[in-house]
Amino acid sequence: MTEDARLLGVVVSGTGGAWRVLADDRTEVEASMRGRLKKSDTGRRADGSIRRDTVASRVGRLKLAVGDRVRLEQDDAAGAWAISEILPRKSQLARREPGHGQGERIIAANLDQAIVMFAAANPEPHRRMLDRFLVIAEANGIASIIVINKVELVGEDVARARFADYERAGYPVHYTSVKQRIGLDGVRAALSGKVSVISGPSGVGKSSILNALFPGLGLRVAEISESVNKGRHTTVGAFMHPLPTPDTGAVVDTPGLREVGMWGLPHTRLDDCFPEIHTLRDECKFNDCAHGTEPGCAVRNAVKQGTVSQERYESYTMLKAELAAEQTK
Ligand code: GDP
Ligand code: ZN
Repeated sequence: MTEDARLLGVVVSGTGGAWRVLADDRTEVEASMRGRLKKSDTGRRADGSIRRDTVASRVGRLKLAVGDRVRLEQDDAAGAWAISEILPRKSQLARREPGHGQGERIIAANLDQAIVMFAAANPEPHRRMLDRFLVIAEANGIASIIVINKVELVGEDVARARFADYERAGYPVHYTSVKQRIGLDGVRAALSGKVSVISGPSGVGKSSILNALFPGLGLRVAEISESVNKGRHTTVGAFMHPLPTPDTGAVVDTPGLREVGMWGLPHTRLDDCFPEIHTLRDECKFNDCAHGTEPGCAVRNAVKQGTVSQERYESYTMLKAELAAEQTK
C-alpha cells in the first residue's frame, strides 16, 4: 500500500465539524477540517509552496461537500486526521440556502452523472417533470442517463416508443423491470465506476433497483425517495454509498434534483440544457433567436419536420416562460 492511498480520499458524509473520508486504500476515517483551509487567501502550503491546484486557495468561501476529493494529514501526537486540502471539483450540485439570500449550498461534489428514473406506469410517467430533471442536471454540468422501470406493465416495445425522442435527443435510455429482471445488467454497467445521483419521483423503483443490483448496499426501500427526503434536507446532508467491489463507483443519496431546482438559470441559457435545441440554434436565422415566432427558426422547423419532438419543444417553452417570470420578480 503506498502512503498516498491513505492520504487521499473522498468525503462520504458529514456536515459542519466531523467528516467521514473514505481513503483510497478503502479505510474510512473521521477527519476534521483544517482551520487554515476555511480561510481564504494564502494559497500556500505550510512549507511555503503554492497550492496551485486547490479550489480552496482560489475561493475563500468554498465549503467542503460530500463527494469532494481531499488530502488528509495525521496529527502525529494524537493520531487525529485532518483535511488539509480540497482537490479541484469536476462538478457540483448546488442549491440556494433557504433564508440566506444569495448564499448557495453545495449538496454534493464530483458527481459524474444523474440517473433520472421514471416508471413506464404506476406511477404514470410525467414528461414535464422528466424534462425538468434533465434541465437541472444539464445546468449543473452533470450528464443524465434515463431509466424507465416497470416496463413489464406496458410491454417493452410500448415503453421504447414512448421515450424514443429522448434517445433521439442523445440521452441513453435503459428500459428495466426489477420485477422481471429485465435490463438490469445495462444499468449496472452504467453505474459501475461512476459517481451517480439517483433522482425521480417516489414509487418508481429507485431503491428496488439499487437493492437488486447491489444487495450489499443495504439501502432501505424509500430511503432515497425524494418525498422522504423532503423536509429533512436541512438536517441530513448527502450520503455517499460506495458500490461494493468489484464495482467501483458510488451512489449518492441526496435530496435529489427536484430540491435543487432551476434557480439562477438565465432563461437564455435554457438552450444549452436541451441538447437537441443546442445543436440547432446556430442554424437559426437570428443568432439571438428565442425559437418562438422568429422567421427562419431551425428549431421550429425541426419540430415541424418531426426531428425535434413536439413535447420536448413544449417543455422548453414552458420552462423558459417560468424562468423568465422568475427573473422579473
Ligand atoms: P422508490 O420510491 O423510487 O425508491 O421506489 P421503490 O423501490 O420503493 O418501489 C416502489 C414500488 O414499486 C414497490 O412496491 C416495488 O416493489 C415496486 N416495483 C419496483 N420495481 C418494479 C418493477 O419493475 N415492476 C413493478 N410492477 N413494480 C416494481
Ligand atoms: Zn430559433
